[in-house]
Amino acid sequence: MKEEQRDTLPFETKALEVYNAVRNLKDTSLVCHAPFNSIYFMPEGQMVPCCYNRTHLYGRYPQTSVEEAWFGQSALQFREKIISKKFDVACVRCLDQINVGNHEGVHARIYDQPLAFKKESEKITAGSVLQSKAFPEILEFELHNICNLECVMCGGMHSHLIRQNREKLPALVSPYDSAFVQQLEPFIKTAKVARFLGGEPFLIPIYYEIWERFVQINPQAELHITTNATTLNKRAWRVLESCKVHPVISVDSLNPENYESIRKNASFSTFFSNVESLRTFCKKKNIQLTFSCCPIQQNWEYLDGVLRYCNKNSVRLYFNTVVMPETASLRFLSKEALQTVIKRLDWVLKTESFRELLSRSKTTRDNNLAFRNMIVQLKAWHKSKMEDQSSEEDAKVTHLLNIQGTNIDDKPLSFRLETFDRLKVELTDEQVLVLCRRLFRSDIQNHQHWTAKNWLEWIISNYSWKSEVTQNIELSSDDSSAFQYEALLRTKIDLLREKLNS
Ligand code: SF4
Repeated sequence: MKEEQRDTLPFETKALEVYNAVRNLKDTSLVCHAPFNSIYFMPEGQMVPCCYNRTHLYGRYPQTSVEEAWFGQSALQFREKIISKKFDVACVRCLDQINVGNHEGVHARIYDQPLAFKKESEKITAGSVLQSKAFPEILEFELHNICNLECVMCGGMHSHLIRQNREKLPALVSPYDSAFVQQLEPFIKTAKVARFLGGEPFLIPIYYEIWERFVQINPQAELHITTNATTLNKRAWRVLESCKVHPVISVDSLNPENYESIRKNASFSTFFSNVESLRTFCKKKNIQLTFSCCPIQQNWEYLDGVLRYCNKNSVRLYFNTVVMPETASLRFLSKEALQTVIKRLDWVLKTESFRELLSRSKTTRDNNLAFRNMIVQLKAWHKSKMEDQSSEEDAKVTHLLNIQGTNIDDKPLSFRLETFDRLKVELTDEQVLVLCRRLFRSDIQNHQHWTAKNWLEWIISNYSWKSEVTQNIELSSDDSSAFQYEALLRTKIDLLREKLNS
């Protein structure tokens, strides 16, 4: 197997053609513009292409400066990959969304703007960015995990409270400082859009420094701040008033009880009063207000309320594709349960489509399209469950295993552990679970719906590791420990391999 086949993904030409036809771009030769017009800053200093692809590292602050990362060799290599349609394995979610026809949800679309540095007749090359000394037009910041909430579908990388209380991990150390803000100046000067994520952006001190710089040197830039709208204090309102802020509110439900059961520590009344204030603010400033919604196992029955509110109040609605954790993603429902969800959401869409005809509003049309595409994604998950017994296996994991070119089930445990070791570095925690299912399925039966906790227990009972494991975590039936189990699973399998080798 050639090396290049190992780290790229296959794609469906037909699906790509259909996707290109719906993009609002004249030139669709690049599937994704992110490597050419955007850079993403992760909480521990990593600089990467976007929030989906977190593994192709351009560099790490402070060891690598922001300019070195953007104009450096690693970014150049990634641009080459995108140009030649050799998709990076970490781009699997975009590719999946394209393949199943969830066009509104394709993450790469948020970078779909004509490239300012490219002349019409010019052919884009990986070196074009460097030659034209073009800084990115989009800056995306996820500089810290400070957050006041502990939402069920979230993790410790986005909430310091989850990291502390649920995952029992040491606090994350964010390296960003005033020298970083200084390095950002040429980037701030030319940026058209900057997105601020968290954590809760209004609780992250360094963001105020960056917003201050925007006010001083580029007040025209659009600042998209994704907030949970529970902590809008005076300082936050000063930012809203002094910068060109486009607020994006994270909303999963407008049913008070349901909202508070998902968004732990939040008060619905405070949240909703802030939503209404932000709506009035946007209306006065003629700015689009956006809701960002996670359709999950805990809120699917209440999504109609969110859609109706948005359509009634001209709020733009965006749906995230939630693929983890297992306890929240709709993807992990049984065939039957997922079918029930689809049926209900189809019915919601039908009634809202009727309203669309009456209102003729563009926002309603766009929102209904986003809703329809979200259902398309659910239908694709359902279809794969129907077609394939191993349907919950992530496409990326399947691909990685396929390129091993061997029937993995026939191999001894030591070989499978070695394979695990080789492949796990590229995977998310959730995909590591999928990988476990595939690698160890011949050892056990009835494992289809096992969580990290089950896998750990299996490893413990088979390899007598109880004392080592309980040093780190008390095994309990508490589902909220799922994240810890996932993290532990990675390290325990490392130990298992070492033990077998010794
Ligand atoms: S994950 Fe999607 S948006 Fe990110 S670089 Fe890859 S194709 Fe582009």
